[in-house]
Amino acid sequence: MTKNVDGNGRIPKNGADFTEQFPALDLAEVALEGANVGIWIMDSVSGKFFPSQRTKALFGFLPDSDMSFGDAMLKVVEKHRKTATEAIENAFRKQRALYVEFPVAALPDHPQRWLSVTGGFSSPVDRNSYFSGIIMDITEQKQTDLRRSKFIGMVSHELKTPLTALKGYVQLLNNWAKKQKDNFTIGALSKVEKQVKKMLNMINSLLNLSGAEAGKIHLKKETFRLDELIAEVVEETLFITSTHPIAIIPCGSVTIYADKEKLEQVLVNLLSNAAKYSEKASGIEMICAVQDSQVEISIRDQGLGIAAEDIQKLFLPHYRVQSKETEKIAGFGIGLYLCAEIIKRHNGKIWVESEPGKGSTFKFTLPLG
Ligand code: ADP
Repeated sequence: MTKNVDGNGRIPKNGADFTEQFPALDLAEVALEGANVGIWIMDSVSGKFFPSQRTKALFGFLPDSDMSFGDAMLKVVEKHRKTATEAIENAFRKQRALYVEFPVAALPDHPQRWLSVTGGFSSPVDRNSYFSGIIMDITEQKQTDLRRSKFIGMVSHELKTPLTALKGYVQLLNNWAKKQKDNFTIGALSKVEKQVKKMLNMINSLLNLSGAEAGKIHLKKETFRLDELIAEVVEETLFITSTHPIAIIPCGSVTIYADKEKLEQVLVNLLSNAAKYSEKASGIEMICAVQDSQVEISIRDQGLGIAAEDIQKLFLPHYRVQSKETEKIAGFGIGLYLCAEIIKRHNGKIWVESEPGKGSTFKFTLPLG
């Protein structure tokens, strides 16, 4: 199978005519074209690329003109081209399901349009199999998403201000109650504080979501000790994770130049997910290791684990695993998307290693220096 891919795992960039090659797909093509959906097929052996007429049109090509894979990718807006090409090439090389979204500048002087590409291999993968899928115009959906996320951004900003004030007053009252040795008030106030912190975490996620969706995650970088941040986060999230024993394998003193608040959010998300998606009392392990010019942090749980087909979509906005075990666990499905955006903006990598029933290890790396 690998002979269809060059040594770097890249897809050959030649194109060919769709209807001549796949007459049996004529009817399907007519139906899909009506719904403004394009089809594409790639021969897994020769790597030849066969776009349907609608696929060509979506990329701004005329129906009878040639469009190779390389030609299509050149229409992807430059900022997104590398990620989009890598996603397709990875799915092809690793024979995984494909889902990727990107904007294309199909025609000069026309607004960009957003396309989504879904695909995979016909199974079983052998000499006769094809890597194929569909392509859709999702511009309208993207615009609606953008309006919605602006609204969410505005509302969460408004909610954050009074809540931050509330948190301050609760802390003040708590100090006062401690002086009075009033145990009932101390107990009640720490419960209020726990809930206020939970709400603030949620609001911060919503705020960052709206920023990320508008392509505006602004990093406020500073130099700080990463090992100290890890210790602080573990301490601060005890109100969520105290049900689980946490083992930390520290990395000694590591100084990093990064956005502290955003990295804190990544750590909080991963740690609270480890607790949220595993049985009470099962252990969580957090390892920090410096290798060459980067630091790698991994958070391992012994929880539900994640199936291979979900792993690929886990870092997409609003994606939540649908299963009997997860349906009772509340969440928005935005935490991992934000973690991925934040780590990407720091030129790091984030991924997960997991098997259903055997727990998950979320890992991310950050460049040092
Ligand atoms: P949320 O937890 O709010 O749903 P996330 O973006 O943090 O959103 O996670 C997306 C999905 O990934 C979750 O709904 C869950 O199904 C899955 N997931 C995340 N972390 C874990 C984990 N440690 N173990 C198992 N599944 C997880």
